[in-house]
Amino acid sequence: MRPEILFPLFAPATALTGVGPRIAQAIGKVAGEHVADLLWHLPSGIIDRRYAPTVAEAKTGAIATLTLRVDHHVRPHNRRQPYRIYCSDDTGTLALVFFHAHGDYLLRTLPEGEVRVVSGTVERFQNQIQMTHPDHIGTADELERLQAVEPVYPLTAGLSLKVLGKAVRGALETAPDLPEWTDSALLAQRGWKPWKEALLAAQAPEDEGDLEPTSAARQRLAFDELLANQLALAMVRLHMRRTKGHKTEGDGALRRQVLDALPFQLTHSQETALNEIAIDMGQESAMLRLLQGDVGSGKTVVALLAMLNAVETGTQAVLMAPTEILARQHLTTIEPLAKAAGVRVAILTGREKGAARQQILNQLSSGEIGIALGTHALFQEDVAYRDLRLAVIDEQHRFGVHQRLTLAGKGEAVDVLVMTATPIPRTLMLTAYGDMDVSRLTEKPPGRRPVKTVVKPQDSLGEVTAAVGRALDKGAKVYWVCPMIEESETLDVAAAEDRHAALKGVFGDRTGLVHGRMKGKDKDAAMAAFAEGPVDLLVATTVIEVGVDVPSATVMVIEHAERFGLAQLHQLRGRIGRGAEDSTCLVLYAAPLSETARKRLEVIRETEDGFVIAEEDLKLRGAGELLGTRQSGMPEFRLADLDVHADLLPVARDDARVILAKDPDLTGARGKALRVLLYLFERDVAVRFLRSG
Ligand code: ADP
Ligand code: MG
Repeated sequence: MRPEILFPLFAPATALTGVGPRIAQAIGKVAGEHVADLLWHLPSGIIDRRYAPTVAEAKTGAIATLTLRVDHHVRPHNRRQPYRIYCSDDTGTLALVFFHAHGDYLLRTLPEGEVRVVSGTVERFQNQIQMTHPDHIGTADELERLQAVEPVYPLTAGLSLKVLGKAVRGALETAPDLPEWTDSALLAQRGWKPWKEALLAAQAPEDEGDLEPTSAARQRLAFDELLANQLALAMVRLHMRRTKGHKTEGDGALRRQVLDALPFQLTHSQETALNEIAIDMGQESAMLRLLQGDVGSGKTVVALLAMLNAVETGTQAVLMAPTEILARQHLTTIEPLAKAAGVRVAILTGREKGAARQQILNQLSSGEIGIALGTHALFQEDVAYRDLRLAVIDEQHRFGVHQRLTLAGKGEAVDVLVMTATPIPRTLMLTAYGDMDVSRLTEKPPGRRPVKTVVKPQDSLGEVTAAVGRALDKGAKVYWVCPMIEESETLDVAAAEDRHAALKGVFGDRTGLVHGRMKGKDKDAAMAAFAEGPVDLLVATTVIEVGVDVPSATVMVIEHAERFGLAQLHQLRGRIGRGAEDSTCLVLYAAPLSETARKRLEVIRETEDGFVIAEEDLKLRGAGELLGTRQSGMPEFRLADLDVHADLLPVARDDARVILAKDPDLTGARGKALRVLLYLFERDVAVRFLRSG
């Protein structure tokens, strides 16, 4: 249960005075639906009204707060003329200018003969000092209130600064003092104030420096959020460790048979990874390990051997891939090898239907099938396993945390191995998984040749087509990749179809096509025709981005490469350079290039190193955007900015570790405060893992 002290903060924004349903909707767009969301909506700028000159001193263009005597009103003769009010101090005269004014209102707020404080932008018009529509007008004793620094917030249509500012002030008044959850030594060392004070300071910047994410107040708030994130992850981890699982230690018989059947030797890093996985699986607690290896580094065979470890103990394993094509390809690789060891492999995707599907389900629940490959279909509700021990998830960034947990939930304390070709920077790893164990495939299988990458403008299409023709004549297999068009798959497909038609006109029937809208069977047929049959030139959308393996392909054309992300370009290019032949990637771009697009293409031309590319990607895009936060299940932060606060992350992680070592169920005074923190940042799912909830 959410602690009572937080109730006001989790009320809807409409609970604040001045916020009705319409304004709440606009607030929902920029901040969120709860009062608490307004607390996290920090100013993006300031208006400094502290400059209080005399009329004679007032600098043109500056925002100034002046104390003036109202001399006389001059009403306009027609609607196009403004209403002017002449005011003065001992040094000079200033005109207040109002268009479409309500005279009554002006007479009330600026009565002749009285002294008033006005704040706004100083202008000069035909040698007259003036101020058009002052932002604030008040009485003389309000000078101090008006002569302030005003926060400016990110806004949206239908939401003015005045209204939003008032709502934020209302939210701040609602904010209670909360018990301190952060280590006092850390607070002292960093010079951080208590939570409420830090929040008020972050919401009331005095100068530009206070807007910096590195200001003490903002750092403290960011740290709180990171601590909540790391503590929640550590609690899930601790729960996994406490849950009694299985020791999975196969006798190695099946693995030996497969190793004998392999046409190659494992690389050193494949062996190391397999050892690390075997040790984890042999522990009673469940494994959560990431296998990270650049495209083509040979993750599939590692997955197969790990799965056989489970099968050797009479239990089952699954390998889940994000696309149908990839699942089928895993089947092509894995099935003959598994057969060599006498292990039954089945595939389960959206395409298996009716009686065929039912038969597979029966054999999964009876245990006849040892290894299941497939897509999301593997964890649909009616899929049951006799004894699932290991779940391998390929290209994990395509799946959210939720999907990972659902798959693992198909057995008890299932060991989980996630595989990725996208090197995840350490900071992102930590925020998404906490301390996850990592195995890395650092070497490529022997005999791989570097890919030559050439960057050319899109209008050299004719020249490129001729070059492709020459390559085809020499017996090459060529991918021709067409880009995404404004996120629309239909247009996407249309572009690929057009290009296919055009190239078919040139190269005839050796031209094939594959895209995401094709029926599964047709996709397979297209891929197979390219891999071993009559098709030598395959026009494709990004469906081939992930994992597709046709070692004889040596040329790739990527159209409109400026529309692709860096990681995506790297993945695409990874489809070639897999065999013994030299490979070439022709990267086409349409001018003009944006600065980041130019940099992306430069990086892709310069290097094939996945780690370097991932780092550059991080630099170019920023941590939040990398991997596409939402779809990848990466957490989103409101206050922490991983590009700036990355150094706070290990501090939060260590702190979380120490906390749980001392007080694993958060029952002490600090523990109780930490529970409030978890609820405050909505990381409360972790709270149910505590023994005394
Ligand atoms: P990825 O890590 O991108 O998933 P794959 O598992 O698809 O890579 O492997 C790419 C290719 O390398 C496959 O054709 C596979 O058979 C081959 N391969 C894997 N390991 C080795 C090895 N140790 N020596 C030679 N070839 C290997
Ligand atoms: Mg793969």
